[in-house]
Amino acid sequence: MFSRPIGSILVLGGGSAGLLAALTLRRRFPALEVRVVRSTDLGTIGVGEGTTVLFPEHLFRHLGLSMADFFSIAQPTWKLGLRFFWGPRERFFYTFTNQFDARVTDLPLAHGFYCEESCDDSDLVSALAARDRCFPDGGGFPKIIPGSFGFHIENQKLIAFLEIACRAAGVGISDATIERVEMCGENVAALLTTAGERMEADLFVDASGFRAELIGRALGEPWVSFDRALFTDRAVIGGWERTTEPILPYTTAETMDAGWAWQIEHEHFINRGYVYASSAISDDAARDELVGKNPGIGDTRVVKFRSGRVARNFVGNVVAVGNSSGFVEPLEATALGQLVIELRILGDVLVDTRLQPTDSMVALYNRMVGETWDAIRDFLAIHYRFNTRLDTPFWRQCRADTEVGDLADFLAFFAENGPSGMGRRLLPTGSELFGLQGYLALLIGMRVPFRSSGSASQEERRIWADFAARNGASAKRSLTVAQCLTAVRHPAWQWV
Ligand SMILES: Cc1cc2nc3c(=O)[nH]c(=O)nc-3n(C[C@H](O)[C@H](O)[C@H](O)COP(=O)(O)OP(=O)(O)OC[C@H]3O[C@@H](n4cnc5c(N)ncnc54)[C@H](O)[C@@H]3O)c2cc1C
Repeated sequence: MFSRPIGSILVLGGGSAGLLAALTLRRRFPALEVRVVRSTDLGTIGVGEGTTVLFPEHLFRHLGLSMADFFSIAQPTWKLGLRFFWGPRERFFYTFTNQFDARVTDLPLAHGFYCEESCDDSDLVSALAARDRCFPDGGGFPKIIPGSFGFHIENQKLIAFLEIACRAAGVGISDATIERVEMCGENVAALLTTAGERMEADLFVDASGFRAELIGRALGEPWVSFDRALFTDRAVIGGWERTTEPILPYTTAETMDAGWAWQIEHEHFINRGYVYASSAISDDAARDELVGKNPGIGDTRVVKFRSGRVARNFVGNVVAVGNSSGFVEPLEATALGQLVIELRILGDVLVDTRLQPTDSMVALYNRMVGETWDAIRDFLAIHYRFNTRLDTPFWRQCRADTEVGDLADFLAFFAENGPSGMGRRLLPTGSELFGLQGYLALLIGMRVPFRSSGSASQEERRIWADFAARNGASAKRSLTVAQCLTAVRHPAWQWV
């Protein structure tokens, strides 16, 4: 319980989580003093390179940041979704748009019912991705489709951009290493630096990454493991400078013997990483498998992680965000999206309590944030439970043992009814991050069987084929990522 309104916030950590938290809080509460303390000696995690649509929406719509500055400093590329080498299809695309639940034709059923052999052209964005195109051509300039894209961004460039935005918004940033936390009952009173400085605040944001200095080490909040749903715990990471490879408008997720590998598309660099279970493969064997598929890969490094979340994210006067609040493997690149959700709920908590959060509001915050973490866990779990691509011991174990948590009712409904929009009602709270379309994209993409109550008529098949052909033809006339990047650097281009 806070005995008076919060007047000052100290954020511990200057990775993407800490900086975005500081910026968001300062923008929403301009009268608050917001400072960041971070250690350049400890550095940041240096990975975290894909986003969902929530991230651009937050930066540009909610925070009102300049897209021109973002493109010039962070140097992102657009990400329309994921290309999966997963399940029995040769490949499928999961875009951020409504591929399977949509009804934009005269067809009686949702589009998901008509995706049989290929689902590439089930909407325009998927058709674009399938042809390595990014946006339709508006006379040499991209016609950017709102709500259709996230970004690929290198961690250090994102941090550089966020630091500039923080300072411009009046956030103080200091470089120091915290070596001790001074407690006052259940609250944090101050952080003590190695240089002997004592830093006080009313509210502390723990954005110290995997170190979880406040929520974990100082407060000892219990860890809720996701190890019954997600079996991976390491990633071997590398990459190479781009030469002639086209910049693809999506992240690739490829099934590997003991996990999966990503490919992330930066303008000048291709980033590859293999997420694996150390119980199923050694570090050396994982590296060999990754290098075998990517002979050009340079130096690699191994990052260890554990999947799960803290039981409560808001404890006493500490709120944990980013990797200190929880972590799941980057299969759907959800970390920055989850961070945005946490920051929005936190903002609402502070507004509605006039900066003096009550116990019941804090309890509700913890419940809501916990539910979104659990929904991410379950969404990732279905990727493992239903992936029939390989028959290695790891994948056999995934298909047999992955727990699907709160999705059991929804999956049973899908098995009986297919991609009916009615299934939305059975999705658990917290699943808004993906929406029904996300679940359907994975289930249909992996050809998870459902009982069909009749087949499409000839006329329905013709309408579907025409619709898909129109998407394919439009996509063919569209611009590549490289063409779009050139166009937005042209003096005549204007960001909307
Ligand atoms: C293999 C892998 C792939 C990932 N891919 C994605 C992805 O595609 N998309 C995505 O959204 N996310 C991804 N993530 C998650 C990504 O790491 C986070 O989204 C994001 O970078 C947030 O990190 P952070 O700010 O919480 O932690 P960090 O970047 O680790 O920052 C922690 C900060 O705290 C500071 N700090 C810690 N202890 C102290 C101390 N004692 N004193 C002072 N300062 C301190 C550090 O100096 C640093 O500034 C991935 C993670 C991994 C491991």
